Amino acid sequence: MDKIPATLIIKNARQLVTLHGPGHIGPRGGAAMSDLAIIQNGAVAVRGSRIVAIGQTASLMRTVKASRHIRIIDASGLLVSPGLVDCHTHPVFAGNRATEFEMRIMGKTYLEIAHAGGGIKATVRATRRASENTLFQNGRQVLDEMLRWGVTTIEGKSGYGLSLNDELKMLRVLNRLNREHRIDVVPTFLGAHEIPDEYKNKADKYVGLVCGEMIPAVTKAGLAEFCDVFCEQGVFSLKQARLVLQTAQAFGMKLKIHADQIHPTGGAELAAEFRAVSADHLDNVSNEGIKLLKKAGVVPVLLPGSVYLLGLKKKAPARKMIRAGLPVAIATDFNPGSSPIHALPVAMSLACVEFKMTAAEALCAATLNAAYAISLGTRIGSLSPGKIADIVIWNAEDYREIPYWFGKNLVRQVIKNGRTARL
Ligand SMILES: [Zn+2]
Repeated sequence: MDKIPATLIIKNARQLVTLHGPGHIGPRGGAAMSDLAIIQNGAVAVRGSRIVAIGQTASLMRTVKASRHIRIIDASGLLVSPGLVDCHTHPVFAGNRATEFEMRIMGKTYLEIAHAGGGIKATVRATRRASENTLFQNGRQVLDEMLRWGVTTIEGKSGYGLSLNDELKMLRVLNRLNREHRIDVVPTFLGAHEIPDEYKNKADKYVGLVCGEMIPAVTKAGLAEFCDVFCEQGVFSLKQARLVLQTAQAFGMKLKIHADQIHPTGGAELAAEFRAVSADHLDNVSNEGIKLLKKAGVVPVLLPGSVYLLGLKKKAPARKMIRAGLPVAIATDFNPGSSPIHALPVAMSLACVEFKMTAAEALCAATLNAAYAISLGTRIGSLSPGKIADIVIWNAEDYREIPYWFGKNLVRQVIKNGRTARL
């Protein structure tokens, strides 16, 4: 038998969490979320930027041919997993909202703060004033921190510009981050994130701008892969959200929705109607909504950081969704208002505590299922031969330690596209 040539081997891992399933395609739903396909004393071989083989160390070493410049990493006693995928973030903005954090502690609600001119609008004012270069530098610092926590791919949204030029500015920054940073960034257009001050009480008119000018300009410039909309009471109605999604779909964009976060608005049903790639938040999803998401193949993305930081009583019914067979994904929802959390492992801890997900489910939700939530499930998210070599080596013996050591960074080494990333 011909030996497989390799340029990098990570061997002797105490647990090699592969999430690989022979013949398994698609995200892992329901009980399959608990099956991490762990190889004890495992090894993974890489050639260039791709994974070429996985297996037990002894047998893998026999089947792999070392190239002249091969690098061998001994991961004895350690946990090795796929790179984490943060599939819902707002990483580009100026300023911060630490004062609102305190206002909420003192009893003001998220929507009350928004109506008083704070919230997303406060970040919009700061982001509009900031130069493209400042926004890039801010975004780079955010991504540096995410990488240190084991994240190798993110989805990043615009939505703090809310004018044609400022939205294009944000999307250019996201695209530049994708080109220049080690982390891959999937850009999402979120022009319908909030109604800007100059369109106060003229939401329909603003939706007209989003559909009539922004979506055509964004797609013409090729700056975004997804279109998203914040469907929520006091923000965009179901009818307005439908208009945005219809337009984006007609322009060939893939779809996401901020759905059923603070009130039950029928967002999940809308996501199913459009066969969106994901429906996000879902803290107030209906039983019918859960059924329709499953039927339409929409990935539910749950965001425990915003549940925790907003102190929301109503939380996404993760157990019900998993029982229904849905492939739940989780993300940080990193943003300066409701979830200033860079660390996906912290969001995994919160998913365990807030949503009663197991450590295995949380890891599946932050890797393979998260990859499917951004249409990259066939390229990343598991240690499968043929996939991109995005790998994390952890200072841990067991995958359960990732959510357990709350707030402690256990990442020892990150391999991105087959190369060690400087942390
Ligand atoms: Zn969000």
